[in-house]
Amino acid sequence: MTEHEVNFGSIQQLMRAQYTDKEIFNDAQKYAYEYINGAYERNVFPSESALEQLSAFDEDLPIETQNAPELLRLLHEKGSPATSTLSGGRYFGFVNGGTLPIGVAARWLSDVWDQNAGLYIISPIASKLEEVSEKWLIELFGLHEDSVAGFVGGTSTATLSGLAAGRYRILANSNWDVGSKGLFGAPKIRVILSEHAHGTVFKALSLLGLGRDNVERVPVDKQGRIDIEQMPEIDERTIVIAQAGHVSSGSFDPIDEICNRAADVGAWVHIDGAFGLWAAASEHKKQLTKGIEKANSLSVDAHKTLNTPYDCGIILCSDEDALLSSMALSGSYIQVSENRDGMDYTPDMSRRSRVVELWASLKFLGKNGIEELVDGLCDRAVQFGDELAENGFRILNDIVFNQVLVACDTPAETKATLENIQSSGECWCSGAEWNNEPVIRISVCSWATTPEDVKRSVKAFVAARDLAKQ
Ligand SMILES: *Cc1c(COP(=O)(O)O)cnc(C)c1O
Repeated sequence: MTEHEVNFGSIQQLMRAQYTDKEIFNDAQKYAYEYINGAYERNVFPSESALEQLSAFDEDLPIETQNAPELLRLLHEKGSPATSTLSGGRYFGFVNGGTLPIGVAARWLSDVWDQNAGLYIISPIASKLEEVSEKWLIELFGLHEDSVAGFVGGTSTATLSGLAAGRYRILANSNWDVGSKGLFGAPKIRVILSEHAHGTVFKALSLLGLGRDNVERVPVDKQGRIDIEQMPEIDERTIVIAQAGHVSSGSFDPIDEICNRAADVGAWVHIDGAFGLWAAASEHKKQLTKGIEKANSLSVDAHKTLNTPYDCGIILCSDEDALLSSMALSGSYIQVSENRDGMDYTPDMSRRSRVVELWASLKFLGKNGIEELVDGLCDRAVQFGDELAENGFRILNDIVFNQVLVACDTPAETKATLENIQSSGECWCSGAEWNNEPVIRISVCSWATTPEDVKRSVKAFVAARDLAKQ
């Protein structure tokens, strides 16, 4: 036996003991509870001193095995204060989304399971929950019953997958198997998308060899929607990408009309519905997503509007053969089964069983709960817009979903107000450019946001503007 093996034996014993005495798990639970208990009152963004304390992590890779309870304590003492409070009610940055408690709890359990959702033979439970969640999502969004779902890290990967399926189908229609032959010498694929398409769409296009700039951009109207009058003719070699939920204004492209035109000629439509596709789950909002059942592929995040923990994205595709063909992989050691093998639907092979939290969140809320969640976010956004307008702010978008674009009297005042909001700790918003002026972007996307949170945040806006005027 080498000396090295002897050493590892003692670490192995130590780790066995960690599972037996459960001290670190009890500690982790205690710290987690402390964090949760303070989540509604703590600063939404870390204080200066909390950020300075991050230097506690600047150290060389330890040579020796460390004390586990101590390192957990370090993580809590120095790490917890340096988090943004996404789980509270006053975080409105980007489009993030809080977490449902049941999603966190289900994830805790599944973390202990340590499942690899790639194959049924590795994780029958993950395979079963993917099957069930796929069915539920198709029903919830009103998609064609033959549609399939793949469970990925987020909309970025979901869009990559949907566009890969579209690329496969369009070229297969010209007797070109892109999977084996690649793109060199292939018939040209046209890509039509909005001038305001999300950055992740361009990333997917560049990864797929379709070219970030090799696209036809359609001008948008004042709300950032594709102007259908200006959309070029489409043909059977075209992929059209539409948005259900503009990342800044929250507006929806004219999906129904786009899908009808595409269907007439056999083009492929992909919908980027990262947060907005959930409108389809609400009777009051589903008009916004009219026509999505005619799309060929759709990407959506559960970690945004549905408030599951990160990272939980979904690719939905009505052309099972195209999705599976573009994700095909083989190896002599892979044991496929009669059951659902998750990796057939996604670019990755091994991945965590993120469907556990998704399933738990869907089951807990049920159809009615999901509708209330979606409607609640939209109501809070309208409240935000109304109260900010009453206080002299300009609202620059039609608030159709959960996004609000806000400006002060001058660009300089808007910028300074945003900076003051971000450092206030009271609430947190990000910024953007809208029609050539800087704006404050509000995204209401946590179940935890109450009408009082909105009122308190409006006060923080007013105080931040007062400070900017001094
Ligand atoms: C968030 C978002 C994305 C990217 O999704 P990720 O889950 O971050 O990969 C794409 N499109 C829109 C409209 C988004 O809001």
